[in-house]
Amino acid sequence: MYLCKICNLANGSRFGEGECGICGGSALKADAMAETGAQMLKADGAKSFSISTVIDKEWLAREEKAWDNGLGQAESIKNLLNRRISSALRKATGAEYCAEGECKVVFDFTKGTVDLQKSDMFIFGRYRKRAAGLSQSRWKCPKCDGRGYMPPAHHDRIVGHDRGKGCPGCEGKGKFYESVEERIGEPVKKAAGARDYVMHASGREDVDATNSAGRPFVLEVSAPAIRTLDLVMLAGEIKKSGEVEAVDLRFVPRSFAEVVTESHFDKTYEAEVEFERDAGEADAAKIRALEGAMLLQQTPTRVAHRRADLVRHRKIKHLEFIRREGQDAKHATLIIKAEAGTYIKELISGDSGRTSPSVAGILGMGAKCTKLEVTMIDDGYLDFCLERI
Ligand SMILES: [Zn+2]
Ligand SMILES: [Zn+2]
Repeated sequence: MYLCKICNLANGSRFGEGECGICGGSALKADAMAETGAQMLKADGAKSFSISTVIDKEWLAREEKAWDNGLGQAESIKNLLNRRISSALRKATGAEYCAEGECKVVFDFTKGTVDLQKSDMFIFGRYRKRAAGLSQSRWKCPKCDGRGYMPPAHHDRIVGHDRGKGCPGCEGKGKFYESVEERIGEPVKKAAGARDYVMHASGREDVDATNSAGRPFVLEVSAPAIRTLDLVMLAGEIKKSGEVEAVDLRFVPRSFAEVVTESHFDKTYEAEVEFERDAGEADAAKIRALEGAMLLQQTPTRVAHRRADLVRHRKIKHLEFIRREGQDAKHATLIIKAEAGTYIKELISGDSGRTSPSVAGILGMGAKCTKLEVTMIDDGYLDFCLERI
């Protein structure tokens, strides 16, 4: 068996050089391809990169044959190519090789092509939602798939209309709500020249609830052209769009998105409550006595259509009954600290007995939450993790 120069290097140069019995000569393009890759990296200005090589599966089988024939040390050709190319790229560009590099350069030896892919970028932050009526993530209209109009009927196409009728599901808007995700993602997308974005957050509040606590999230920004963003300026941009603020912004590795979405934190809420009848001091005392209670919460009726119907146990860690200025005997404010995943509206209304105990249940009268705000999230654990990145 003869090998080309590159494959022979991988096999301790023990073979004669000739028409290569492993790669058929394709590996000889490695240096030229590395030079192309280096030019691409330079043009991009990336400070770090990773690489990936694609080789024909046949090479692996043939290389094993060579190992059977040969004696002594050998390394796989894929290894050798990766090492040789990444070292050439480092030398030519001064950029650093790392698994989470700003770009991934793909060397495809089956086609002889080199391709530069922008790596996704991840930004951690905490968002505050100052106004009710925003959903957390983009909520596309399923009827028109976010287009805002219905696909043209066959007949319309024939007579030359290229657009169908406005979507009746969303009145042509393509979505039901503005979202926190867009208020944060759009300014970032614009500044980074990115293709798209997705927000990964630690839980979510209802559309009609607000949050002054700052909910942890990681924004995944895909294919950014610019990676050196001024995050302070961006926070200013986000705030300008109104209703949403993002604080504590910083770059994080991809793996941090999961840390954020998989963690559960105790939260404190301010809930304005309207009672069916006057609620006096005796009622207030009963409500305060819920502090320390373990709730049984069956999945609320309002979300039962999209979540599994099950019973959760959640603890009320702190509860205050407050009567604010302007609140009559039928109104009060509750400050509630509860475990992650507690349904606060149902804690108040009882949800027809599906949450027990509840404010309505212990008072024996109707009670409903008219306004809800998340005021504190005990997420100090994340700061602990961030310090170690
Ligand atoms: Zn070869
Ligand atoms: Zn629609």
